[in-house]
Amino acid sequence: MNRWLTTLPRTRTTFLLLVGSFFSAAPPAFAANWAVRAQPTRLVNGAPVLFQVKPPQRLESLNGTWLGHEVPFNFDATSKTWFALAGVSLETAPGIYSLELTGEPSASKAPSKKILFSRKFTVARAKYPKIQVKLNVEGKFTEPNPEQQKQIEEGQQVKKDYLNRVTPEREWSGQFTAPANAAISDVFGSQRIFNGKTESPHLGLDFRVPSGTPVAAMNDGTVLLARPLYFEGNFVVLDHGQGWLTLYLHLSEFKVKEGDQVKRGHIVGLSGGTGRATGPHLHVAVRWQGTYLDPARLLRLRLP
Ligand SMILES: [Zn+2]
Repeated sequence: MNRWLTTLPRTRTTFLLLVGSFFSAAPPAFAANWAVRAQPTRLVNGAPVLFQVKPPQRLESLNGTWLGHEVPFNFDATSKTWFALAGVSLETAPGIYSLELTGEPSASKAPSKKILFSRKFTVARAKYPKIQVKLNVEGKFTEPNPEQQKQIEEGQQVKKDYLNRVTPEREWSGQFTAPANAAISDVFGSQRIFNGKTESPHLGLDFRVPSGTPVAAMNDGTVLLARPLYFEGNFVVLDHGQGWLTLYLHLSEFKVKEGDQVKRGHIVGLSGGTGRATGPHLHVAVRWQGTYLDPARLLRLRLP
């Protein structure tokens, strides 16, 4: 009896040591079994990022927190990888930030105890162009009268009410695709001057298209807005779920109405020069959970 009590723990220790040495290349076993990577591998402010995670065991669900945002992960059965599309706001300072992961083990593995993991990522500063473009915009956009001021405030309220929404269900899947096959006339993050006044950074991507060019949905989604606003002109916003929105500005014509469900490539409107625009062009923007991200970088991501 006494002999068993002393040998049993020793046997277990030996076993654990053997298991430990089997994975000897890695530090603690619990940390080594998680594989977490980011695409692109270099994270910068203003950019979207795809996180891909292989946890050490089967999970029912995986959730993350990143830069104060809740990030739900989806499971890709083909690669047996969990993935989440997230972003780094333009205002995020360069530094080291943690992606905190919480996994819910599969129900078969009783007792269900959450597993946690944390992985640090370095965020570098992106180089966005500082082009001092002197654009001549009508005075009504820089010095509005009281009636125009009222319309501006109405527009601001609509954007406040709609553009920060997070629909939990994912509608997007696979690549985001360009809304038009045309040259880029202005990139995300550039700084412009209107009538001598420096404006905030350009928070979208401009396509050089003549008026009347069909504008295609960048991914599957639901039409959140399709209405005219003061600055945006005829304005379409698609909700792709999980806090992802794409915005299409200055349209000459709507081809969808609010509440419509669209597939990637569906024509949502025709381009134009309505609202604050120096001429016909297509301005598209991407929002993730209330923050603008670079559409060009989103288009470059290879998504599951
Ligand atoms: Zn623009």
